[in-house]
Amino acid sequence: MKAPMNDYLTELLDICGEDDGAVADYIPELAQADPDRLAVAIATLDGQVYSAGDADVEFSIQSISKPFTYALAITDLGLEGVLERIDVEPSGDAFNEISLEPSTGRPRNPMINAGAIAAHALVEGGDAPKRFERILELYSRLAGRELSVDEGVFESELDTADRNMAIAYMLKTVGTLEDDPADVVRGYTRQCAVSVTVEDLARMAATLAANGMSPDGTRVLEPAVTRQVLSVMATCGMYDAAGDWLTTVGIPAKSGVAGGLIGVLPGQVGIAVFSPRLDQHGNSSRGVRVFERLSADMGLHLMEAPESARSVVRTPRVRDDGEPSVHELAGDLRFVESERVLRGLEAEPEGDGVVVLDLHRVHRVHDVARRMLLEGVRRLRIDGHEVRLVDPDGLLPDPDVDVSEPGDDTPRDGYVPQVFDSLDEALAASGG
Ligand code: GLN
Repeated sequence: MKAPMNDYLTELLDICGEDDGAVADYIPELAQADPDRLAVAIATLDGQVYSAGDADVEFSIQSISKPFTYALAITDLGLEGVLERIDVEPSGDAFNEISLEPSTGRPRNPMINAGAIAAHALVEGGDAPKRFERILELYSRLAGRELSVDEGVFESELDTADRNMAIAYMLKTVGTLEDDPADVVRGYTRQCAVSVTVEDLARMAATLAANGMSPDGTRVLEPAVTRQVLSVMATCGMYDAAGDWLTTVGIPAKSGVAGGLIGVLPGQVGIAVFSPRLDQHGNSSRGVRVFERLSADMGLHLMEAPESARSVVRTPRVRDDGEPSVHELAGDLRFVESERVLRGLEAEPEGDGVVVLDLHRVHRVHDVARRMLLEGVRRLRIDGHEVRLVDPDGLLPDPDVDVSEPGDDTPRDGYVPQVFDSLDEALAASGG
């Protein structure tokens, strides 16, 4: 079979319409870019990448570097330390606004240049080259190949970096920067000049979508860090178009002035588009349109609520004839699904009947669900029931419920519900 995904992406590029806007020219080298380039890539969490258009053309990452460097700063310094220096409020200003929060002196968020320059300086490394090395190493791990700097873009931007210099000196005056501002801008400018393709960016985005886990199963970033980064991308990633973007596209995103644009759909995919002409906010003009279309076609808007948990819990067989009653669970158990399970258990009358929780069709038990289910088991036990678990994959490990005797609700170690591999075995077992 021919891959339908690639054909879809090719079609998507065909229909994304006339290009408008203009390439960024405040960095002279970017003004040289071929404005008609167009590419899109989608990466799944297990490492599959689909692409179309100019997918092997390299361009500079620019501001798309910001969320990744922010992630590294949080990893190094801890979230609290970073929040003391960089806020997380959308600014409503352009990306290169020379301003700080009047009350605290902090940059408003890490996605505008002031916050991104501050975040760059918070990355540990000892000296500036070492710091940059660590940043490039992270980007490379996320992209799954060794990335490098486009020296032409770097020199060109550094020659004209007066505005970013102004921002860095401003940060120094309020004590946010300890290092030499010129050194920090140099490092930040190098970070922006890292060369990538849409496929690299889609992979980097997919690792954020996977809570920081790369497709080969190695942890690159902690889940708490990716959650912070994605939240900030959702509110601030598209600068002063963030509200418009979130309502129409509904995907945490980050744009770069070379025409790149990434989107991260948590738990699902990483997406990247490249088209150099920019709109008035500095976001890729066709890139925005491709994302709008993709989000609508594929139902990717984050605020579109998923189907409810209705199908997850089958109507329980609550028995009053001495036969075991069976509660069958399926799918992914989180808070909402577990609430439904507990509601089913509430229907169990007090007594010494056998209650079977059948988890054999459950894929995953989230921590909150584990706690809720074990509390349900504990309460059933207090009511006098014998509880049997059908849990062939051991999804509820170590269910050491704290009661030992029916009717006795003083916490005590010892009651472990019997675990079975199949419902038949659980039903056939004799009392335990
Ligand atoms: N290197 C660029 C700058 O600092 C990044 C800006 C962007 O991509 N929006 O001006």
